Amino acid sequence: MRLSQLFGKTMRQAPAEAETDNHRLLLRAGLVQQLAAGIYGYLPLGWRVLRKIEQIIREEMDAAGGQEVMLPALHPIEIWEASGRRQKYGHDLFVLKDRRDHYLALGPTHEEVTVELFKRHVQSYRDLPLLLYQIQTKFRDEPRPRGGLIRLREFTMKDLYSFDVDWDGLDVSYEKMLSAYKNVFDRCGVPTVLVQAHSGAMGGRDNQEFVYLCDIGEDEAVVCGACGYAANTEKAEIRKRRPDPEEPLPVEEISTPGLKTIEELARFLDIPPAKTLKAVFYSAGGKPVFVAIRGDLEVNETKLLHVLGVDELRLMDDREVEAAGLVAGSASPRGLKGVRVVADDSAPEAPNLVAGANKPDTHLRNVNYGRDWSADVVADITLAREGDPCPSCGAKLSCHRGIEMGHVFKLGTFYSEKLGATFLDHEGTARPAVMGSYGIGVERLLAAVVEANHDEKGIIWPASLTPFDVHLVALSTDRPGVAEAADRLYADLQAAGVDVLYDDREESPGVKFNDADLLGMPLRVTVSPRTLEKAAVELKGRREKEPTLCPLESAPAEIRDRVAASGPQEPQTPR
Ligand SMILES: [Zn+2]
Repeated sequence: MRLSQLFGKTMRQAPAEAETDNHRLLLRAGLVQQLAAGIYGYLPLGWRVLRKIEQIIREEMDAAGGQEVMLPALHPIEIWEASGRRQKYGHDLFVLKDRRDHYLALGPTHEEVTVELFKRHVQSYRDLPLLLYQIQTKFRDEPRPRGGLIRLREFTMKDLYSFDVDWDGLDVSYEKMLSAYKNVFDRCGVPTVLVQAHSGAMGGRDNQEFVYLCDIGEDEAVVCGACGYAANTEKAEIRKRRPDPEEPLPVEEISTPGLKTIEELARFLDIPPAKTLKAVFYSAGGKPVFVAIRGDLEVNETKLLHVLGVDELRLMDDREVEAAGLVAGSASPRGLKGVRVVADDSAPEAPNLVAGANKPDTHLRNVNYGRDWSADVVADITLAREGDPCPSCGAKLSCHRGIEMGHVFKLGTFYSEKLGATFLDHEGTARPAVMGSYGIGVERLLAAVVEANHDEKGIIWPASLTPFDVHLVALSTDRPGVAEAADRLYADLQAAGVDVLYDDREESPGVKFNDADLLGMPLRVTVSPRTLEKAAVELKGRREKEPTLCPLESAPAEIRDRVAASGPQEPQTPR
């Protein structure tokens, strides 16, 4: 491809709306174009990379036993109602009405549609296991589309659904997907960690995310450097320090004028925060909830949401606190009536705590679970923080931001039971298929590839994804022989099967080299009067500091060999 003909111009400065390195570079290099919030188009260079990403995904899914299908993006709303997910998705689901006043949804994911396909074509255990996937446009009405290609409203997703006869079968399919996903991200040059996650609107049980740890990520993950434990912060556990046993002492009232926070209280009484009981008030699905947790710990609202089984949770405002009969700053679960109490599992086992008295400016010493108060639910609702002990080995945990690159779920029989995806087992008994669901966002992967592979000058494409193998630069083309030599090399390289982007423009060396660095092809080849004097061309790898000379005569063969040596790999999972 001649750069003079290429559609899409490079830019010196990125538009102000770009907030991250990958977004700035994708715009400056002319790979993507925003049409509206969360809606992008892809120019020739960007589209080349996206197709290569899709091909890597396709190869790995096929190697893992997946079969590619293509399912509709437009879904009758009834299947979303049958699964109960029309409500769960809420406003994230794009819903539209056809001319006959029937409602349709634009698919954000395809569990329901794949189950419909399964019902038509699968009768017997002999048809299983079955792994179906597609690479297709999805729609999600994100409340806050942002970050360039990270959070889109229209995007491409590879979604695979596995159907097995039992949970053991699902474990096998799940393991296959874990290794296929690892191969995809490795081949794309994006380092990922596998973290435990919460399932959100998907239902089901085990699930994990592949996360690329980087500061621009919207997710938070907790990682143990010692044993490899990794979890999304929403799900992460910590090893809680167990208090020494003490004899329960009699409750004493103490005056604590003006002390509202745990820190003030602990300082005033000269005790560690772990000897106090913290009260936090939530409105959960419109009902008041009193949460009691040891004073040194914080509440993880996602865990609490799951424990309560509600869709919506927020802190109560002052008016609601008063209406529930609670005294802010001195609230107590002791003697509390008509309010649901949830205790973190740290609280019941801690003896002789200082807790509120539910009277202004007053606290109680020696409050003990069971004797003085009790909870409707006791569960782990603790938020993991930097430096907390790892739940598996006790070493210090570290917190990181990250981008969720892929998500794998063990759905079990949630959808197959609800939607009637059954098969006949050996004895001829109908049983629900045991399902798994596995997704990768393609454009988000493009963004992560650029985020993980760039420097201050521009993109550094991994050989597996580069839009072109070689960036051929001709300098001072008005000088005799230069254009001819460069044209000949361009033709020879193409004949040798090398993908070449040929900068044949009449621009200064500075502009051409800056564009080569910005566009990021792995190998730059320069033809100039200076190199031709030595009957040579200059080769420079995008990550190399200095160029090397290569004889003009052997240049096509040498370049071809260099490209082949770094070139795209075969699928890593042999079929
Ligand atoms: Zn550990």
